[in-house]
Amino acid sequence: MPNTPVDLRSDTVTQPTPAMRAAMAAAPLGDDVFGADPSINALQEKIAAMLGFEAALFMPTGTQSNLCAILSHCGRGDEYIVGQMAHCYRWEGGGAAVFGSVQPQPLDHAPDGTLPLAQIEASIKPDDAHFARTRLLALENTLGGKLLPFDYVQAATDLAKSRGLQRHLDGARLFNAATAQAAALGTDVRGEARRIAQCFDSVSVCFSKGLGAPVGSALCGSRELIARAHRIRKMAGGGMRQAGLLAAAASHALDHHIDRLAADHALAQRLAVGLAGIDGLRVEAPQTNIVFVDLEGAAAARATELLAHLNARGILATGLYRLRFVTHLDVDAGGVDRALVAIREFFTH
Ligand SMILES: *Cc1c(COP(=O)(O)O)cnc(C)c1O
Repeated sequence: MPNTPVDLRSDTVTQPTPAMRAAMAAAPLGDDVFGADPSINALQEKIAAMLGFEAALFMPTGTQSNLCAILSHCGRGDEYIVGQMAHCYRWEGGGAAVFGSVQPQPLDHAPDGTLPLAQIEASIKPDDAHFARTRLLALENTLGGKLLPFDYVQAATDLAKSRGLQRHLDGARLFNAATAQAAALGTDVRGEARRIAQCFDSVSVCFSKGLGAPVGSALCGSRELIARAHRIRKMAGGGMRQAGLLAAAASHALDHHIDRLAADHALAQRLAVGLAGIDGLRVEAPQTNIVFVDLEGAAAARATELLAHLNARGILATGLYRLRFVTHLDVDAGGVDRALVAIREFFTH
């Protein structure tokens, strides 16, 4: 459909598919605050089993899931080591500090998105009254669309464990990470998701990103950790009653939308390849479903004009001098090609 917008702002913009809506309509429901919603219970068991954990808890958002995780691992005056660009540090309103009095220790990322091991090691405080108690290492994978190298994930989480720290993964896009890792290794996506997840004591996964569900995340961990997180979710107002409607969408996504993530990655590649060679654009080679494009020189001077030009043609992206294009379930090759035509047209006029 040539006139429908090509919405590349985020993979959160997807509409539930007809099959997903049917699964939602058919979901058996109960009051989850009594633990009596069969669809939520089934989803929690499914995601915990998939990722190799004892238990899981359905959450309305990834933000609440990360918050409940950090507050389950840390108490007042504790500290978590985290990346400067990590969602749970930078993009969640400082919730762990605000609601939990948990102090972040942010570290700069290396260009590949990792937190250098020496920096992690150096930021672990000794047991001394001067310092906050370092309790937790929080990583994110993918981070800004980048896959953390698996060797690094192992080494960083081994280091944290050897120093007595808990380990949390913000795996909002864990299945995108697993898809890229499996493609590189010639292995199975679900196996890679589990292998990444098993390096951590807790993992948060979003269903509302590339998996294409309208709402929801899950926090996975030990039974004990999830019991603590449950109490915190209650305090955060996250007890959601007949939310099996939403859990059914998430369950459907786990059954039907994991294997198609590779198609999103291929479309991101198609976009990046198509943009390469346009003067003034520096395209970061995408590893998953997110393409970053920096506008340089004369192109940067026309950034506002470019966005208006794209908007007028129904091509939606975020950013200004650094544009972000995200591929997902509701974008196809035709949409990507329309974006390419619009961008080329701008730069040839
Ligand atoms: C989207 C996202 C979250 C959570 O977002 P919500 O909008 O609260 O669901 C957490 N971490 C990362 C890396 C994300 O991309």
